[in-house]
Amino acid sequence: MDREQFKAAAHAAIDDIIDHFDTVPSKPVLSTVQPGYLRPLIPENPPTEPEEWSQIQEDVDSKIKPGLTHWQSPNFMAFFPAGVTYPSILGEMYSAAFNAPAFNWLCSPACTELETIVMDWVAKALGLPECFLSTSPNGGGGVIQGSASESIATMMVAARERRVRERALAEGLKEGTKEYEDRTMDLRPRLVALGSEQVHSSTAKGALIAGTRYRSIPTRLEDNMEMTGDALRAVLEQCEKDGLEPYYMTMTMGTTSTCAVDRFAEVKAVLKEKESWQRIWVHIDAAYAGAALVADEYQHIAKDWAEGIDSFEMNMHKWLLVNFDAGCCFVRNRLDLTTSLDITPAYLRNPYSEMGTVIDYRNWQISLGRRFRALKIWFVMRSYGLVGLKNHIRKCVSIGEVFTDLVRSRSDLFEIVTKPAFALTVLRVRNPKAVTANGTAHTVAQPDEVSCDLTKEVYEKINAAGEIFITSSVIAGIYVIRVVGASTTVEEKHLRRAFDILVETTEAVLKEKAE
Ligand code: PLP
Repeated sequence: MDREQFKAAAHAAIDDIIDHFDTVPSKPVLSTVQPGYLRPLIPENPPTEPEEWSQIQEDVDSKIKPGLTHWQSPNFMAFFPAGVTYPSILGEMYSAAFNAPAFNWLCSPACTELETIVMDWVAKALGLPECFLSTSPNGGGGVIQGSASESIATMMVAARERRVRERALAEGLKEGTKEYEDRTMDLRPRLVALGSEQVHSSTAKGALIAGTRYRSIPTRLEDNMEMTGDALRAVLEQCEKDGLEPYYMTMTMGTTSTCAVDRFAEVKAVLKEKESWQRIWVHIDAAYAGAALVADEYQHIAKDWAEGIDSFEMNMHKWLLVNFDAGCCFVRNRLDLTTSLDITPAYLRNPYSEMGTVIDYRNWQISLGRRFRALKIWFVMRSYGLVGLKNHIRKCVSIGEVFTDLVRSRSDLFEIVTKPAFALTVLRVRNPKAVTANGTAHTVAQPDEVSCDLTKEVYEKINAAGEIFITSSVIAGIYVIRVVGASTTVEEKHLRRAFDILVETTEAVLKEKAE
């Protein structure tokens, strides 16, 4: 493809992309293709002769688009959103054009320096404590990772290395010796990573990758599924009895099933009770809900994080208008990362790195090469301004509240199971026989087989009908429906329609049962 052909193809592709965004709201949110649909449509072997762009674009239309789930649809109310905006697409275009895998500063100074600056912007926009800024006296800073899972696994490896190093050095062993290596390897199998029962599966996966154990901290519906100090203390004490050494813990702001926020203040107080507990690396996973911190009314959540938190991560690619991938990860002490992950063969050496005055992001992550993701964050933050980012969050939260109120208005049919938060409502269909005399529910939902079956049936029917896409989960033995309207295109009318669908489907299911 030469420059003229590229220009023509790019114009055609951009027109098509704009048309895609214009038409997505009116398309079914779920694809109707069956598994394996694509193989018969694509030649078995790569083409021998070059093909025209027009042919390729035609195949995007006829073969790829039918198999897309429309995450950008306002009717996408499942999982958590994956937003994308025009400025962020422009960021991807430039990033692809510059294509500079800037693992060392020298490999493309602009990539590294813009990332450091933009991560400081993000930290400030979220109201994070100063300790997470690259300019902080403690040597903190942010790095863009591909995902929350990647951030968590990376932090866990750094935490493990910090712990075994501390222990081996305290025992007088010298780094680089066989005795040191033996000791650090002996320590690893006793190490335990922790997270609440509601923590995302990436924490257990991270422990697997880090080669350590994993234990979970029980949560209760009475506590809104939040990790409490007492529950943590019980697990820490049990670990001690079992001869295990907790070295890392994920706390969540906005758990996946219900958007619960773990109780930071309580947990912090418990960790202070013992010297060994104070050394646990505490990571905050705010993959989705962290975006809400741009709005001033949520920033009080971060006020406790100036002390006792080692790292924090949120995905701008969920709810903050930047397309996947934009995992923003911040550490209090970058040396924890670089000491653990810096392996420098001769071919990576250069005077700037040796001087120690530059950041080499390869030492903050798993892979060596990296994409120029700072551009799209920079473009989005400049195009929307903080005002635009706050407005987006506030709009979603406010229409989420409209939906919650609608659900509450039909307490004869539904029960809200956990505290609605961050535009997410978690509900179940009531067991009609369990409704109390005055029509109100128990304050805390109780497991109920009839309600579970009804909720599951309603959930499956709604997704099968395909006008909206929602997800379900099971918490404390209760089958629940989650509705989160936080895509970039969602409006109040979409949540109102979702509520109507919920009511119509539930009434139909109940009627069927009654017959
Ligand atoms: N943490 C939480 C709270 C999540 O909800 C999710 C995904 O939704 C993740 C982590 C994993 O995110 P990623 O796909 O970026 O690894």
